[in-house]
Parts: sequence; structure tokens; C-alpha cells
Amino acid sequence: MLRVGINGYGTIGKRVADAIRAQPDMTVCGVAKRQPDYVAVGAAEDGYRLFAADADQLEGFRSIGIEPAGDVTDLVERSDVVVDATPSGVGATNRPLYERHDTPALFQGGEDATVAEVSVTARVNYQEATDAEYVRVVSCNTTGLARLVAPLEEAYGVEKVRATLVRRGGDPGQTGRGPINDAVPDPVSIPSHHGPDLQTVLPSIDVDTIGLKVPTTMMHVHAVNVSLTDPPSSVEPIRDLLAAEDRLLTIPDFAGIDGAGTLKDFALDAGRPRGDIWENCLWDASCTLECTDFYCMQAIHQESDVVPENVDALRAITGHCDGPTSQRLTNEHLGIGTNQLHERVGLARDRQPAD
Ligand code: NAD
Repeated sequence: MLRVGINGYGTIGKRVADAIRAQPDMTVCGVAKRQPDYVAVGAAEDGYRLFAADADQLEGFRSIGIEPAGDVTDLVERSDVVVDATPSGVGATNRPLYERHDTPALFQGGEDATVAEVSVTARVNYQEATDAEYVRVVSCNTTGLARLVAPLEEAYGVEKVRATLVRRGGDPGQTGRGPINDAVPDPVSIPSHHGPDLQTVLPSIDVDTIGLKVPTTMMHVHAVNVSLTDPPSSVEPIRDLLAAEDRLLTIPDFAGIDGAGTLKDFALDAGRPRGDIWENCLWDASCTLECTDFYCMQAIHQESDVVPENVDALRAITGHCDGPTSQRLTNEHLGIGTNQLHERVGLARDRQPAD
């Protein structure tokens, strides 16, 4: 059993903790948190051993009836590997702590790529994390783009990717973020930083990205154009190729899922924890081929698509098993590809391959 410590128990940290708990070969040995708040109470009720992110906050946890198991240093000492899910930029300041204890660590996509030896997403470059001490799991948007572009590159070759990323203003719990009534070019300069971030896992891909922020907390939506080197004669084989990817969920037209709101409703109806959607959600009807240009639109659940990637990166960094085995285990124990989400849109998966 791999003992994993989670440092930073917020949007990503709590989801990664639950995903680790669902796996047969790893366990959460504790979570470190700053505030003694409702999330701390939830962690304690869920049976997670709680550590104070700062030693001077121990009393704060005691005052709400939670006895911390120690501070974050104690957590790192007990962990075989740490998942750092602290806010953007904080992870880099934590790296010396992990180094002092000779403990490997995963960082998140909000960190600069230089925080780790390698940036990963399991479908693309799991293998590169196997020799590393410090690994960065790329951001939600980058994960979403990489999962889509990698199979296209393998099957047809990619000349150029152009993607417009319509990004959620904040997560549901981020009450201070916006915009609240606007559509904001963010950044206004083109290309945005997302393209170079994709190249941290797919260095040979020529990509330009444009970013906007809009007033929703639900999901990001990507409008993507991929110029293919050697395209098929129709879009059907591309649809089949993408439908065969475990972490790409093809949304059939009949479903009436017309946006991120219905997607979230669908996920909640299907019993997904927290309404999470770990897969890219690709609208089947948007898949279009014009000469060599493939077009599509996909929605990305920013709070959860990186969760299975963190689980896989844990196996990679500890040399536990190979990439396909890890992805299969993660999918099976989370319910990706086998639970109601896929079953309910199963018609898309039953599509007969084109000649
Ligand atoms: P969050 O703010 O929801 O959670 C961060 C947690 O870390 C909070 O519980 C906070 O109290 C705690 N914390 C703050 N400072 C700390 C410290 N010094 N030591 C320990 N804990 C500390 O943040 P998040 O959205 O979960 O993001 C975490 C990382 O994941 C960031 O790098 C972010 O860019 C990345 N990420 C976020 C999303 C998303 O949509 N939320 C998606 C993909 C990647």
C-alpha cells in the first residue's frame, strides 16, 4: 500500500483524497489543511487524519473538536509521497520541505512547470514521470486539450491546433471571483499561456490558444480546430477514434445535453460524487471535418478532470506499474467507462467503426 499525504485540502485535494481511497493499492495517510472550517469538519467525519498546515493553527482545530495528528511536517514524514494541492504558487514554496524529507511529490497545474522535473498527463507521457522525484500534473485545460490532441496526433498527425478556451470565472466555492456580468478576454494577448503548457506534455505540437473568462462556475468549454496531416476521407473514423478513448465521453445528439448546465445535471442524476465529470465531454454533433481541418467542441469539468491524472501520476512516480495498467486500475475503481455516465450515453460507444 502506497501511503499518500495530501497537502492542501481544497477543490482538488479533497477530490484526489477520495479517489486515492477508492484505489486498491494506495491509502491516504493524512491531509494537511489551513483553516479549521466546514471542510476540516467534513474531512474528520470522513475519517481522514488531519494535520495542521501551520503548527500555530493546532489550537484552532482543537477549538472545533478536531485533534490534529500533527503539523504538515509530521504528515510529510509519514508519507511515501505527497500530493501538493495548495493554491497556485504555494506548491513551489513547499518543495524544500519535501526535499528535506526526501519525499517525492506531485504538484498541480497552477504551479510553474519549473516546479518539477516533468509535467504529465497519463494518456500522453506517463512514462516520463517514472524516473522523477517531483512531477507536475498539468492544469484542467491542458489535460483536456492533451486528451483530445494525443489520439489525433497518433492516428493522423497534427499540423496545427487552434483552440479557443471559454473558461469558467471561478469554482462554485470561489465567491470572490468573476466576472459576474461580462465576457473578458483573458489574457487579451494572443496566444494565451495554455498552448505552451500543452507543449510541456506534447512538445512537438504546433498550437495557438485564445482564452476568455465568462460568468459561470460550471465548466470550461473549448472550441477546437485541428489541422490534420493525413486525414481520413470522412469524419466517422475520427468520431470512432475519440469515442474509444476512456477519458473522452462522447455526448450524442439525442441526449439533449446542450451545455455545461445539462452536463452537470446529468452527472448528478447519474450519481457521480459531487457531480464530478472526470472525462472530457465531447459533443458528437460538433465533430466536423472540412478538408484537412477537424473541428469540435468539448466541455471540461475543471474541478475533477485532473483527479484520475493525479492517481496515475502517483503510480508513475513510485514505479508502481506501467501506464496502461495504472489507467485501467484508476478508471475501474473510480467508475470511468463503466458507470452510468457512459452507460447512459452508450449509444455513442456502440457506433460501428467506419471502413
Ligand atoms: P483551493 O484554494 O480550492 O484549495 C487549496 C487548499 O490549500 C485550501 O484548503 C487552502 O486552505 C490550502 N492551503 C492554502 N495555503 C496552504 C499552505 N501553505 N499549506 C497547506 N495548505 C494550504 O485550490 P484548488 O482549486 O484546489 O487548486 C489547487 C491547485 O490545483 C492549484 O495549483 C490550481 O491551479 C490547481 N488546479 C485547480 C483547478 C480548479 O479548477 N480548481 C483545476 C486544475 C488544477
